[in-house]
Amino acid sequence: MTAARGGGEPVAGAYPVNVDRSALMHTYPEPPVTFVRGEGTILWDTDGRRYLDFLSGLAVTSLGHAHPVVAEALDRQARTLLHVSNLFGNVVAPQVAATIDRLIGGGAERAGGQVFFCNSGAEANECAFKLARKWAGPGRHVVLSAWESFHGRTLATLHATGQAAKHAPYVPLPEGFEHVDYDDLDAIDTVCDSSRVAAVIVEPIQGEAGVVMPSSDYLRGLRRLCTERGVLLIVDEVQTGLARTGRWFGFQHNGIEPDVVTMAKALGNGVPIGACWARTEVAAAFAPGDHATTFGGQPLATAAAKATLEVMEEVDAPGCAVRAGAKLRAGLEGIRGVRSVRGQGLLLGIELESAPAAAVFDASLERGLVVNPPRPDTIRMAPPLLVSDDEIEEALAIFADAMAAARQGVP
Ligand code: PLP
Repeated sequence: MTAARGGGEPVAGAYPVNVDRSALMHTYPEPPVTFVRGEGTILWDTDGRRYLDFLSGLAVTSLGHAHPVVAEALDRQARTLLHVSNLFGNVVAPQVAATIDRLIGGGAERAGGQVFFCNSGAEANECAFKLARKWAGPGRHVVLSAWESFHGRTLATLHATGQAAKHAPYVPLPEGFEHVDYDDLDAIDTVCDSSRVAAVIVEPIQGEAGVVMPSSDYLRGLRRLCTERGVLLIVDEVQTGLARTGRWFGFQHNGIEPDVVTMAKALGNGVPIGACWARTEVAAAFAPGDHATTFGGQPLATAAAKATLEVMEEVDAPGCAVRAGAKLRAGLEGIRGVRSVRGQGLLLGIELESAPAAAVFDASLERGLVVNPPRPDTIRMAPPLLVSDDEIEEALAIFADAMAAARQGVP
């Protein structure tokens, strides 16, 4: 298909409209728009309409769409070596693992951990759960997580996900997952019995729940409790990780050292890849044959991750998130109908006074701004970390207009 004009905007009418979607399982609602091309913060739909992407494919394309360095690395790797299986070595995966280990340590020095590569956030968490069980030994297999959390959709990660409505159709779920209130150290204290609990998993910010922040001492308290009880602390950085909140990882705002960290989304800037990092003493619980996945750490996905992390370091992606996040947040706080703005860096949840978030989402999309409503009263924004000041100003103007329209009940 030759719909892109010299790498620029797509030609209106060059894409099929009313695509027959009947062969796709109906796990997702009907999409309101079909996108065909992206560049930086901009997306174009099948009609050639331009949108500002302030969602980044759910916190994935943190360097923006079609980043030239990532595209070039993919092109080069695709022409060199796509896949060999984990029966053999490849030269890219170990380099990316070392970089992740260094970023977990804050960026300067290796933290002293090891990485297992997989293909998604759910798989990174599955790896963490299996590792925790293997590390803790027989009988100590329970993983504690928070109500309203989100950890994935496989059967085990679904059970770790603290949302009863999502569990209901799939019971019985794998045994060994229990939930407590988020941001409640007393609740964890009561159930965190090391004769049966292997690990606690926590999101530094609950993204899918609507960008919900815990109190500033929550993660530190969890770390203390887990250390006292001899239980692993797994931090799920699938959404918050890799610079989005203004640090390489969300836990770094709290000055703690987790035992296990999971990540995915932004790691490949759109190429599917996940990773589970663990302190070396914990990772040592896995022996060859204990865990595996065919595509994990394959050259193409890790080439994308290598390029993504190199660019992120070069541009100081955490600093970008801090600066752009402050500008976006200040602008949002001044918009009529916004009750408050939660979150950190460029992961923001905008709580609305009255207009339903679904109506604000519709009105924003109609005006060319991509956001999403994780809760009936909240809009989430997670633009690329390289978003420009002009793009932020344009998005704020569109959002203010969309809010006014939603208040008046017009599309
Ligand atoms: N953990 C968190 C915090 C997430 O936000 C998500 C996805 O939104 C997941 C895990 C699951 O990741 P994936 O959809 O890549 O399996």
